[in-house]
Amino acid sequence: MSGSGGVWVYAERRGEALRPVGLEILGRARGLADALGERLVALTVGSGDRLARELAGYGADEVVVLDHPLLERYDTRAYTALLEREVRTAEPSVLLLGATRDGQDLAGRLAVRLRTGLTAHVTSLEVDAQRRLVGWVPGFGGGIEAGIVCPDRRPAIVTVRPGVFPSTPPGAPRAQVRHVRPTLDESDLGSRRVAFEPKGDGVDLTRSEALVVGGRGTGGDFERLRRLAERLGADVGATRVATDSGWVERERMIGQTGVVTRPKVAVVLGASGAVQFLVGIEKAGFVIAVNRDPDAPIFEAADLGVVGDLAPIVDLLVRDLGEA
Ligand SMILES: Cc1cc2nc3c(=O)[nH]c(=O)nc-3n(C[C@H](O)[C@H](O)[C@H](O)COP(=O)(O)OP(=O)(O)OC[C@H]3O[C@@H](n4cnc5c(N)ncnc54)[C@H](O)[C@@H]3O)c2cc1C
Repeated sequence: MSGSGGVWVYAERRGEALRPVGLEILGRARGLADALGERLVALTVGSGDRLARELAGYGADEVVVLDHPLLERYDTRAYTALLEREVRTAEPSVLLLGATRDGQDLAGRLAVRLRTGLTAHVTSLEVDAQRRLVGWVPGFGGGIEAGIVCPDRRPAIVTVRPGVFPSTPPGAPRAQVRHVRPTLDESDLGSRRVAFEPKGDGVDLTRSEALVVGGRGTGGDFERLRRLAERLGADVGATRVATDSGWVERERMIGQTGVVTRPKVAVVLGASGAVQFLVGIEKAGFVIAVNRDPDAPIFEAADLGVVGDLAPIVDLLVRDLGEA
């Protein structure tokens, strides 16, 4: 594959809306495409024109829509086959996707089918002096940052963690919109929807302005944290220990395996401050930590630290804020 067909961004949708991660990537990809001297193409899958028109304002030169009513919800088999065909035809040099469940599924399959490299879960992207795309990934438990390039094969496929790039507001629509209308029937799909039961409440912590985050030290009492979050107008987040213990939904996990957040303020309660957790809050504006261990590493990452048992401290805050 020659790989001169531009920088492509897969703009994932959820129902009738574009997922923020695709728009975040588009914001960053404009600069990358310019540095590589290439066009920027946003690709989305679904049906209708509304989302395509919306996408046209996010900096791409072209918007491609794989347009069919059967593509309204993600289907591994159909999406992979159609994207593979588009990529083989257009020969992009780079294909960027959000590291969401569907994005990861798609990226891995495409990389195998196209016999190319996949850099997964990057937290930063740049073009180096040799005009190669470098994806940065925390490795060895967060101890190092590895810069990964895909030197020979095209496209270089990259998944980007949600929340690592700030979202840029849309401008005037400048992209040309091209609809590709594949011929499809039910037999092309790999799954059939029997019922739809959403898990969790669909919270997206990458958008939260304020967070109250609990770890093992909460002992599972997230009700107490919810009361504080309510007073602060904050969302509740958690460490992996707390989500693995089933105290809160998996989608609220912050960190290397969870989400990268950028709230204005985060109150972190009963979390030790493991590096895998810290990568998820290092972009917070102001971090307040409460831990009963004065040597807990969380205090090195915090702007304000309180040594003590979190329960009475939270209760005091809830009471005071309630009176305010
Ligand atoms: C590959 C990999 C990926 C990972 N990804 C993630 C990730 O995305 N997110 C994540 O969070 N973790 C992740 N982890 C796990 C991570 O290494 C830590 O194990 C985890 O973050 C610890 O969670 P914790 O701080 O809640 O628990 P602990 O480390 O056990 O800390 C509990 C803290 O609570 C304090 N405490 C206890 N009782 C109280 C009290 N009453 N009042 C105040 N303080 C109290 C203790 O002093 C202690 O500091 C990952 C690990 C690996 C290997």
